[in-house]
Parts: sequence; structure tokens; C-alpha cells
Amino acid sequence: MRTSRAAALLFCLVGLLIAACSSEPPPPTTPTVTPPPTATSVPPPTATPVDLAASCIDSPAELGNPGPMTRTDVEGAAVFVARLVSDADQQRVLDGLAAARTFIAREFGGVERSICLEIRADEQRAGAALTIGNRVIVFTQPGGWSRPYPWLLSRATAHEYVHVWAAEVANDFAPSNSIAYGPGWLVEGVAEYMSMRMVLEDGLAPVAEAETFTNTLLRLSQATLNDLEALPLPNAEDYATAELAVSRLMQGIDIRALQRYYEALGRRTVWPAAFAQVFGVSPAQFYQQFALEPGR
Ligand SMILES: [Zn+2]
Repeated sequence: MRTSRAAALLFCLVGLLIAACSSEPPPPTTPTVTPPPTATSVPPPTATPVDLAASCIDSPAELGNPGPMTRTDVEGAAVFVARLVSDADQQRVLDGLAAARTFIAREFGGVERSICLEIRADEQRAGAALTIGNRVIVFTQPGGWSRPYPWLLSRATAHEYVHVWAAEVANDFAPSNSIAYGPGWLVEGVAEYMSMRMVLEDGLAPVAEAETFTNTLLRLSQATLNDLEALPLPNAEDYATAELAVSRLMQGIDIRALQRYYEALGRRTVWPAAFAQVFGVSPAQFYQQFALEPGR
């Protein structure tokens, strides 16, 4: 029983992260909008929201065809929902988005841009999520989430929204969620650290469950920070190590330090210098400190 439960959990976690945070294709080019023949006297539409909707539907080929999607707009996002996405899962994703927006508004003043949020049903990718520019795609199981930790859908959405926020703060100097924003453990650790706080503070994830989830992963991960400099991170459990590292980095530091870090990157400060300025420790010193953590 224990073995099968552990195997199911691992599958869930691998499914969660296998496509999350992976290297990203370039943002889709802005589609050309062809006005209908009867609209020749009408000025062409402005960039948003028409282009936003079009870019949602024009998915990268490697992600497959989501089939027909229905659109519902919420605060800050045009939301496209594929068939076979359950109402409960849709709500979990929207709750994650709302939690992220609330947190970022309170701590950092908000996110100005709107995103395109796709919710797809794909058994193989269920639990995964990714960000391409201003597009966030979250995958769940067809017919409804049946695995442990359904709040992971909220958390995955919040995680991706952190990448969107970080890119905006950094003036989009590089594709979001790329190595330009720092080593892999920092890029993903910030998203993991913030998204966990978001779902906990919004009451979306039970505290005890979240601790069990993270501690299970940490027991599986043997990685040092030197092992986690590339993207994507090698294993699902390494995201928990990245989260732990960022939580240690943030100990005793105001969370707005993270905003200052991305602002410095946006001014083209190289990441090690931005890191030392903002966190008050050099990367090398922090790596040494973190190596003293149990299990590292
Ligand atoms: Zn990520």
C-alpha cells in the first residue's frame, strides 16, 4: 500500500513538473488581424484584446491541439477553457490566479499586463504548467483532478504568474523564466517560494498537506545548488530544494527584495551583482551557507 501510494505520488509530481518551467520557445509573433469585408470603414482593432485572444488559440505545435475552447474573462486574464476540464479544476486555476494577483498587489503593487490563461485537459501533462511570454497554460486531467493534492492546480497557476510578474518587473529584458534571470534554482525557487506562500495565505492549500508535500520531495532530492544552475531543473523534487534555498535566502529579508532583484536585472545589472546588492551575500557565500543545510 505504501509503495503504490508513493509511486502514485511520484507520478503526480513528475507530471506536475515535467513540462513546467521548461525552456521556452520564443513568444508567438503577433498575428495579423484581417478585418472582415464589411468593416472597411471601421478602423482596424487595436492590439489588445483581439490579439491576446488570437495568441491563445495559436498554440505551439508541440503542445498539441487543445480542441475547442470557451472563453471567460476574469480580472487580469482572458481565460480559455478546453473541453473535459471540470468546473472544479477551472475554479482551482482561477483561485490560484486570484491568490497570486492579491499577493502581488499587496506586496509589490500589482501586475499591469493582462495574461492569456489556457486550461487544458491532458492526462500525460496533468499538473504541469508553463509560461510563454504573457501566456500561461495549465494542464489538468480530463474529467477532473483525481490525484492527491488538487490544490497543486492553484499552486501551478500562481507559480507561472510569478514568472510573468518577474518578467514585467525586469522590463522583459529576456524571455520570462529563462536563465537570464539567474541560476535555475533561483528562477524556479522564487516561483515556488512565492506561489506556496500565495496558496497558503489564501487558504487554498491546507498547511499540513503542503508541508507533507514539500518534505516528501525534499527527502528525495540530493541536489546541491551547483547541481541546479541550469534550466529546466533535472528532477521534480529539485523544485523543492530550490524553494528551500529561496526561503533560506529570504530569512530576515523583506520580500520586496525580490522586486529589487528583478528591477536590477531590468537595468542590465548582471545577476551575481544584483544578487549581492539585494540579498547582502554573494552567490558563492550563499552556496556555502546552503551546503550546510541538512541533506545538502
Ligand atoms: Zn517555473
